[in-house]
Amino acid sequence: MPNEEGAELYLSDLSERDKPWDARRARAEQVQALYSGTEYDRYSTRILECSRVLEFALAAQDDGEMRFRLMGARFCRVRHCPVCQWRRTLMWVARALQGMPKIQEDYPKARWVFLTLTVKNVPLLELRTTVKDMNKAFDRLSRRKEWKPVLGWARSLEVTRSRDGEAHPHFHVLMMVRPSYFTREYVKQKDWRELWKSCLRVDYLPVVNVKTVKPKANADGSESGITAAIRETFKYAVKPEDLTADQVWLIELTDQMQNARSVNIGGVLRKYWKAHEPEDLVNADEDGGGEVSEDDPRLWFGWREYVKRYAKVN
Ligand SMILES: [Zn+2]
Repeated sequence: MPNEEGAELYLSDLSERDKPWDARRARAEQVQALYSGTEYDRYSTRILECSRVLEFALAAQDDGEMRFRLMGARFCRVRHCPVCQWRRTLMWVARALQGMPKIQEDYPKARWVFLTLTVKNVPLLELRTTVKDMNKAFDRLSRRKEWKPVLGWARSLEVTRSRDGEAHPHFHVLMMVRPSYFTREYVKQKDWRELWKSCLRVDYLPVVNVKTVKPKANADGSESGITAAIRETFKYAVKPEDLTADQVWLIELTDQMQNARSVNIGGVLRKYWKAHEPEDLVNADEDGGGEVSEDDPRLWFGWREYVKRYAKVN
């Protein structure tokens, strides 16, 4: 892009890592518009003010590379705000990845399994009670003998929207298991299904997916299995595009999901990953970053509605 006199400098052109900001903030604008004038008008007001200005430091990282580090922003913390939901995800992922070296040191033999537990689609109006039933069912599951090899787990609730507007709630569960899970305590996919069915106390066989997380780093330098599984686990509660598909759906979803927990941590992982929702939405650097000094240059970017991008503020 030619940098003519007076032309704006955009964050997404200057920092590869910060490219997602524009799309998230643009989506937040849509959610804000959908809340406007409804019973959740107050959320609309809060989202309007969310992350309008971002303050970055340009600082050298541990690897010597200069990178943008977010130093400050005002977040609205509305549950379904696409910016805040994304930041929360990043915080969970950063927390989990930062905890990994210590976990691997304390449990060198542990292995990881990724489990997806679903129920059949339900009318959106039944989402709240369905999630309550799923929580109870998970509780039962965690007391079954098949659960014995599970040392710790992280569970997130995701709700997707079906084409006809029904809700599809499901759990993503990342489990840290004893090595014996893969020998004498092995649970086959088919048995996980039966087990989940029995815990749910339903008369149909729910879809359950189980996959082993590959422990080793990939030879091609791409992400290791555990890193990818951590990202998958903490992905998001509701797909950004589902949030803006239909106003009535969003309002009802907001109603139904009041007070439902998105993330739960159990077993020994509570010690490493903490169960509480992240409060700080600013410092989401996975590697912990590097030190930022007073002398590092600061840059401010403001949200430009007319181009849907963050531009440098002088
Ligand atoms: Zn927000």
